[in-house]
Amino acid sequence: MASALQQTTCDRCQGALVEDAAYCYNCGERTRKARRMVRLAIRVELLCLVLVAALIIGFTWIFYVQK
Ligand SMILES: [Zn+2]
Repeated sequence: MASALQQTTCDRCQGALVEDAAYCYNCGERTRKARRMVRLAIRVELLCLVLVAALIIGFTWIFYVQK
């Protein structure tokens, strides 16, 4: 799946990229794969944040309801 989308040249400077590189060694531009990973990480982080917030709200609600 990932090998079909393998990026071999930099989007900004068109320089050759090292296999599985996260950045272009020539200009420092992030590769498409690295950008995807960053987006995925942000999404997972937001999901965790929402879950923690829901947990806190849930426990707060239970605490007030129990009185
Ligand atoms: Zn580059």
